[in-house]
Amino acid sequence: MKIAFIGLGNMGGGMAANLVKAGHEVRAFDLSAGALAKAREHGAAGFASVREAVEGADAVVSMLPNGAIVERVYAGDVIGPAPKTALLLDCSTIDVATAKSVAAAAETAGYAMVDAPVSGGIAAANGGTLTFMVGGSAEAFARAEPILAAMGKAVIHAGASGAGQAAKICNNMLLGASMIATCESFRLAEKLGLDQQTFFEIASKASGQNWSMTSYCPVPGVGPVTPADNGYQGGFATALMLKDLKLAMAAAKDAGAEVPMGDLAERLYEAFDAAGNGALDFSAIIRTL
Ligand code: NAD
Repeated sequence: MKIAFIGLGNMGGGMAANLVKAGHEVRAFDLSAGALAKAREHGAAGFASVREAVEGADAVVSMLPNGAIVERVYAGDVIGPAPKTALLLDCSTIDVATAKSVAAAAETAGYAMVDAPVSGGIAAANGGTLTFMVGGSAEAFARAEPILAAMGKAVIHAGASGAGQAAKICNNMLLGASMIATCESFRLAEKLGLDQQTFFEIASKASGQNWSMTSYCPVPGVGPVTPADNGYQGGFATALMLKDLKLAMAAAKDAGAEVPMGDLAERLYEAFDAAGNGALDFSAIIRTL
């Protein structure tokens, strides 16, 4: 397949390389010359604009920073210039409202489009082990699945347009809140004189068990190897967690949903990010407790 790929940054670079490995002809564009050069090294063809990259494409995949950019790229250079037969897949993490409006504009113009945000970081993007949460019609999902499968280990149909983004931000709101709750439980346990490893072993087998503890323990030297064991370097950056929490708060406001724990998590991550910790793994928030 001829696949146009827009946005070859930390995530998109590895994803595009996996599409090349799967035998696709990848037509790449990024505003950054460095990102484009790397994509060429991985076997993609580089183009000077989105319009040139989408010419004759069977599918267009985008992995961009935010909703405003996604809207601009699709409205200006994809919807219209890409063949009407091309399937459009936006894998960026953006707000639900923009995901729905861009897909609606694409559908009105005769395209099929899905929102397909990912779970998993840069290592999963490079390794082809991302999880895709897909919003769109059953038909569009059926077309998207084999393309996404070349970049991930799981491709799940979440529902109609926007449902992929909804699943992503609800999951990450739960993750942000559960990480802070895990951090404070370990800190309290310590203050009460409990050995951290002993508390891990007990809580892992008791009702407090959760992913933030058993798979991603924020305490160095406890549980499996995590970013905590590497000075909170790598992993999932605080700035990206904050981005997802802000998207969740915006969606909650639009939907009239009460999210007091998510709201508090957003404020705590905002303060942690503002203190200069945006590049640290999100589990480093334990340092504030
Ligand atoms: P990044 O900043 O490394 O990459 C984004 C790329 O888009 C950059 O190379 C930039 O030059 C390019 N770009 C920006 N505007 C453009 C335009 N108009 N036309 C073409 N290219 C343009 O970001 P990333 O870490 O790769 O994240 C991309 C998306 O994936 C974001 O929505 C992010 O929230 C999401 N995400 C990231 C992670 C992660 O761990 N990094 C995990 C899950 C989801």
